[in-house]
Amino acid sequence: MVQDTTGKIIYANLAAAHLAGCSSVEELLHAPLLTYLERLDITDEWGCPLSAAILPGRRAIQGEAPAQLTIRCVTKATQEARWVRLIATAIAATDQISALVITVLQDITHFKELEQQKDEFIMNVSHELRTPLTAANGYLELLKEHDEQLDPLTRARYLQRALDNGNELTRLVNSILDVLRASRAVQTTQQETLSVAQAVREVLAQFDPQQKQAYALQVHIPEQLLVWADPHAFHQVLRNVLSNAFKYAPSQTPIMLSAVRRAETQSANLVASVCITVQDVGPGIPLAEQPLLFQKFVRLKRDLTGTVRGTGLGLYISKKLIEAMGGDMWVESSGRQGEGSRFCFTLLEASHVTTQR
Ligand code: ADP
Repeated sequence: MVQDTTGKIIYANLAAAHLAGCSSVEELLHAPLLTYLERLDITDEWGCPLSAAILPGRRAIQGEAPAQLTIRCVTKATQEARWVRLIATAIAATDQISALVITVLQDITHFKELEQQKDEFIMNVSHELRTPLTAANGYLELLKEHDEQLDPLTRARYLQRALDNGNELTRLVNSILDVLRASRAVQTTQQETLSVAQAVREVLAQFDPQQKQAYALQVHIPEQLLVWADPHAFHQVLRNVLSNAFKYAPSQTPIMLSAVRRAETQSANLVASVCITVQDVGPGIPLAEQPLLFQKFVRLKRDLTGTVRGTGLGLYISKKLIEAMGGDMWVESSGRQGEGSRFCFTLLEASHVTTQR
């Protein structure tokens, strides 16, 4: 927006009008001087109220060099909150024009939300890492303090516990690196014809046999189903969804893996895909939290304080990988305990893609 030296707005675009809480540019231009600010509660990044006098536009009018500020505006009427970065520059008067102030208002709400999610993620990961670290240190401390008094069996047990916790730490760090690496792989997927049944066998073979035995695994995947997918990405998605079922569904319950061919007409072309589903009968996903589930760093509220470890990155990365391969991914769940969840994703059928190329 452009203001004169009295603060009166002489030009603004629609985005600036919306950020100032007005529904049109005319409304903003005709509002008495600064009254639009009365519609907003404006605070700084730390929640302290800000007066109009210290906003960059006013400071630029008073001759300050390009002034910037990040503010949080809440429209009083709707309670809608927005984060805005303001950068104001004064344009000196010339023979032709009088002095002006140009303010660029950048809506950084999405960026701020991501920043907040990232902070939560760092807190969550630090907490996850601290648990095995504290346990390992505890056992090593016991060994150091009481080494002489401990019998060989107890000493060996403490050492083993310290080692187990050290391994748990390595596993956690590896799983974080795994997902971060996968986010880079999204841009570089190399697709080829793959057998779904074979991929599922290979991924299942990577899981701890004891973990698999604790569930009633049911696999219904026709041998002839072929998909057009990147092997690493496909394996990673299967691994993520299956390990979630193992993590969140109670042991001794069934986990069903199935795949079916689907054909649909898109813009007069017949497109064939394969829909792969992993279904469990665990706690399910509350309806209210389903829209957020595939976003970065999102974990269900009940798991933030629970004992099951996680980063909230697996489903986000999985969906991105599936989309990069031309498919889609979603969840179906009633949200009722014991009715479980169905994680579904599609991949293009290989025979279809091969004939198209
Ligand atoms: P992580 O498991 O590392 O936290 P994900 O992105 O894989 O991250 O999953 C996000 C969240 O979704 C999990 O933290 C958990 O709250 C929930 N979730 C995922 N799969 C299931 C499932 N099969 N049953 C219940 N909740 C699940």
